[in-house]
Amino acid sequence: MILEYKPLHQILAFITQNIEAQEENVLCSILLLDDEGKKLYNGSAPSLPDFYNNAIEGLAIGEGVGSCGTAAFTGKRMLVEDIQHHPFWEPFRGLAERAKLRSCWSEPVLNSKGKVLGTFALYSRQASMPSSQQLELIFNIAKLTTLAIERHKAMEYLRMSASVYEHSNDAVLITDANNRIVSINPAFSRITGYVIEDIHGQDPHILSSGRQDIIFYTKMWQQLTKKHFWEGELWNRRKDGTVYLEWASITLLRDDNGMVSRHIAVFTDITERKNAEEMISKQANYDMLTNLPNRNLFLDRLEQTIKKGKRRHIQFALLFLDLDNFKSVNDSLGHQQGDKLLTMVARRLMACVRESDTVSRLGGDEFTVLLHDIADLANINNTAAKILEQLRRPYRLTENITIISASIGITVYPNDATEQSDLIRNADQAMYAAKKAGKDTYNYFTASLQAETERKLYLRDQLRQAISNDQFELYYQPIFEPESGKIIEAEALVRWYHPEEGLLGPNEFISVAEQMGLIVPLGDWIFTEACRQAIRWKKLYGKNAPAIAVNKSTQEFVQADCAERILLTLQETGLSSDSIILEITESLLMDENSNALKNLQRFKQAGIKVAIDDFGTGYSSLSYLRRFPVELIKIDRAFITELEHVAGDRALVSAILSMAKSLGIMVVAEGIETQWQLDWLIAHECEYIQGYLIGCPIPANEFEDKFLIG
Ligand code: C2E
Ligand code: MG
Ligand code: MG
Repeated sequence: MILEYKPLHQILAFITQNIEAQEENVLCSILLLDDEGKKLYNGSAPSLPDFYNNAIEGLAIGEGVGSCGTAAFTGKRMLVEDIQHHPFWEPFRGLAERAKLRSCWSEPVLNSKGKVLGTFALYSRQASMPSSQQLELIFNIAKLTTLAIERHKAMEYLRMSASVYEHSNDAVLITDANNRIVSINPAFSRITGYVIEDIHGQDPHILSSGRQDIIFYTKMWQQLTKKHFWEGELWNRRKDGTVYLEWASITLLRDDNGMVSRHIAVFTDITERKNAEEMISKQANYDMLTNLPNRNLFLDRLEQTIKKGKRRHIQFALLFLDLDNFKSVNDSLGHQQGDKLLTMVARRLMACVRESDTVSRLGGDEFTVLLHDIADLANINNTAAKILEQLRRPYRLTENITIISASIGITVYPNDATEQSDLIRNADQAMYAAKKAGKDTYNYFTASLQAETERKLYLRDQLRQAISNDQFELYYQPIFEPESGKIIEAEALVRWYHPEEGLLGPNEFISVAEQMGLIVPLGDWIFTEACRQAIRWKKLYGKNAPAIAVNKSTQEFVQADCAERILLTLQETGLSSDSIILEITESLLMDENSNALKNLQRFKQAGIKVAIDDFGTGYSSLSYLRRFPVELIKIDRAFITELEHVAGDRALVSAILSMAKSLGIMVVAEGIETQWQLDWLIAHECEYIQGYLIGCPIPANEFEDKFLIG
């Protein structure tokens, strides 16, 4: 029965029944110990009464727990001659009496390693001890029981293993001592397309794709022989020829004599996971449009380069490059063409540098170039000049040919800075300086830029407190209407009473406030203060009170709630909408920001005038003005200063004046310092005049004395 793998309970029942048939006056019991080795369960006891069997089902073994509990616990034979008088039977005495049992001889069933599997016991109805023949029987039957239980357990284990093998999602391949394939599981066939008939007896090398060289496999085998285990990525080929990547673990089995008996390879197909990983890493590190490294990878490379520079005392240059007026190309030709232009720029940039240098795209039209290992600083000049020259060449887009230039800021490690953030800031500043210097040029980070940067950092820290400490004041500059001879507007210009530096003008700190996100609270303060002044003047001068023009930074204007907040303040103060004019810069109109347009429309609805400040300095065209609800433009001082001497400026200003007239837009000329300028502008019907000739910005009380009384 054992050899035929009959069910265990059948075998045990057969044993007990036969013993009882053969031995008179004995009752037979086989108890099985659970896997934890704690409790006994009925294996077979055909003649013991049910109540008895039920009572000891799940009995916890221990010293003194009857005969079987003790034998199972100690692993030693336990013979009890008289149940009624033996202390170990104390708790079961009543039970035994009811079942009419007087003696119990129990033999532990031990496996080959001496571990207890259960007990084999004979009960007798008389108080007695077994004969030597009976003892031998007990011993032998216990052995037989061992055999039955062990075979049963081994079989169960085999079945379980086989089912894992069959149902696993991991492919399994087994080879013999000579590394010839002997078995594969269904998952293997699913992944590779091979069935056992295809590859039985073959070397697994027939699976290899050739992507990994002989050195790779040699190393793998070296490790396998030494450590009996190897795991890693393998490029293999399916039956249909496609190549896939698997994560494999190979185990080498040896027999008792230390000879190799089997190789077992378990693997999963990770091609897709690998592809996804690569995709993700590419997305995280590369710019999808140009395929250049993105900001992430750039920062990483910069950090590496700094480390290398420190270690080996190498100098390198960091270039920041920003296209000049890319926005207008994008606006006039459309985004697709803009994108195309950017990819062409990227290609030209790559062609200007060595392969070892890194070109990255930070975003938009901003690029960086890392020039590694600069032996001669003159090389930087050459490269920067070459880049500018190459980028200046016309671009043939789908339907147009266009021209663009770039501004480059350069900083050198370690001369200018040695830290990542400092280098980036330097290059950025230098790039802005290049823009200021007229664009299409390159500019080095210099000592004066350094000083400027430091001053900005210094002001930045002070600015935080300045708002809460009430260190700001508004000055007012008159705007004059020649036709009526009246001051019809006062432009509010903010001043900062710095505790140590004295009076600071807005050019010193507005950009700092913008950079550190303080412009909104500062702007709020300015607006509220301007409203307060407007109310006072309304009270004092009634209809003769000038409207107050307030400058708004682009950053304030692109806030979604900018208009609502301003309108609310106006409502709360009870001011009419014509008492306030807002000044914004052209850059706002060029920025593609839907908030800006919404805010503008909101102001238009509410009857608040908006003026375009510094008109002509940005790269906007008059066509912008058609698209936006704007009532006023202020021609920048730059065009007025040389009005008397430069015919071109005169031509420009008169063109602006006549175009604005035809669009129904009023014009203010800024920065009028001479009588000649004033006369010329009046002659050309410029509606409003602002400048030192009329009056400088002064505190509110002085403004009242000078312009509003009398
Ligand atoms: P802006 O709005 O164009 O203001 C005119 C600037 O030109 C003022 O400089 C004014 O003092 C100066 N100016 C006026 N007439 C003449 C003249 O005849 N000759 C010369 N050489 N200069 C003249 P300020 O006050 O230093 O302001 C500079 C800029 O700071 C302003 O230019 C404006 O853009 C910004 N700003 C001023 N106040 C504020 C403010 O409250 N908020 C914001 N966001 N920006 C402000
Ligand atoms: Mg202004
Ligand atoms: Mg201006």
